[in-house]
Amino acid sequence: MQSSLEPVFEQVLRRNPGETEFHQAVREVFDSLGPVLTKNPQYADAAVLQRICEPERQIIFRVPWVDDSGHVQINRGFRVEFNSALGPYKGGLRFHPSVYLGIIKFLGFEQIFKNSLTGMPIGGGKGGSDFDPRGKSDREIMVFCQSFMTELYRHIGEYTDVPAGDIGVGGREIGYLFGQYKRITNRYESGVLTGKGISWGGSLVRTEATGFGTVFFAQHMLETVNGGFEGKRVVVSGSGNVAIYAMQKAQQLGGHVVACSDSSGYVVDEAGIDVELVRQVKEVERARISEYAERRPSATFVPGGRVWEVGAQVALPCATQNELDEGDARSLIASGLVAVAEGANMPTTPKAIQLLQEAGILFGPGKAANAGGVATSALEMQQNASRDAWSFEHTEERLARIMSDIHDRCATTAETYGQPGNYVAGANIAGFTKVADAMLALGVI
Ligand code: NDP
Repeated sequence: MQSSLEPVFEQVLRRNPGETEFHQAVREVFDSLGPVLTKNPQYADAAVLQRICEPERQIIFRVPWVDDSGHVQINRGFRVEFNSALGPYKGGLRFHPSVYLGIIKFLGFEQIFKNSLTGMPIGGGKGGSDFDPRGKSDREIMVFCQSFMTELYRHIGEYTDVPAGDIGVGGREIGYLFGQYKRITNRYESGVLTGKGISWGGSLVRTEATGFGTVFFAQHMLETVNGGFEGKRVVVSGSGNVAIYAMQKAQQLGGHVVACSDSSGYVVDEAGIDVELVRQVKEVERARISEYAERRPSATFVPGGRVWEVGAQVALPCATQNELDEGDARSLIASGLVAVAEGANMPTTPKAIQLLQEAGILFGPGKAANAGGVATSALEMQQNASRDAWSFEHTEERLARIMSDIHDRCATTAETYGQPGNYVAGANIAGFTKVADAMLALGVI
């Protein structure tokens, strides 16, 4: 990190004690920004960095609900409205027991730069709860979502803050959240949430967008060296929304997907993963990934194992933060790795990123590679605003173009700043400068 940035980073550490994921996300961006500040002293003069690290607003609230046995349960809800220089706050909601303020702030911080990279008019925010949806009945999910929205509704709106899904929040949860918002406000305000169902204001391709977008990004990276996915061995972590559609698109482009995982272990299937079966097991039945191997003779379940030990030419981490570490990076490189594209947010540890880059592996950071999800959310908002509904083909074409633009923007920026092929630097710098320029234009607010 350039020495002029150190005092600002020290202040972030002091102000946000114990929030290690947030520190990691800030550090990763700061590590890229030295040359930008040298070239643009006006950013330092206006304390843009200090301001960008301090959320505009942080909301923490109690979420009481009654479980199926009649007991009162209390969870904690969060919404961090991080930066609205480019547009209304935009970012998902995560329901997972590991959620605390530091996770929401890391995700919200990343979201600022990701949203900027999409080229769409959206600011950055994130929210969620330490509620664990696993093993809950449908009624429990509904009453939790209703209670969560009973507080959240007063903070969000089409022109203010537009939440969406993330880990533990899919179409079902968005439905219950939107229903409660509509009931409380008596407004059919479609643009207040994205990830809605197709018959009630959703956009085609939104469900697939993050996974598809990650693969489009990886394809562009691969094309800069040796072709695309065709014939390549692909390993994906996770088996949720992002993982499922990353596998589907990788297969459509000719990749050979051999493994995926969940938090209980991984399945390896050298015959090629049957994506429809993964979807059936994980999304429809909400069962464990081991069930996949039970039903598929060519597959083996490895309990508690790390999916990266399977070996791949293309690795797509699509589960959660810090799930691909130094040891994983080493074994992947030894197996003939060519590229990593992050479908999840911050899944690769800083040490692993360094190793991969030193080994000349193409590395697409999440804030660029997984931006297709939020970009398609912005397309959903466009359709809501114009009361229109686009076809699957048209929307996928828009997504493909956006991912191609993001790839090129990262590549060109990295080159301009003397680091050709460094997508981390390219994404951080391109994402930052657009927000910083808007912040300068809007004055000290
Ligand atoms: P889902 O809840 O649909 O799926 C998450 C998957 O990751 C599940 O397979 C889950 O396994 C696994 N997982 C979660 N936590 C852990 C953990 N601690 N250890 C191991 N595995 C874990 O979430 P999404 O697919 O929507 O999100 C995945 C990632 O992509 C997240 O990092 C998210 O922030 C990011 N992302 C998502 C976007 C979207 O549009 N949905 C947009 C951009 C980024 P299990 O079933 O066992 O819990």
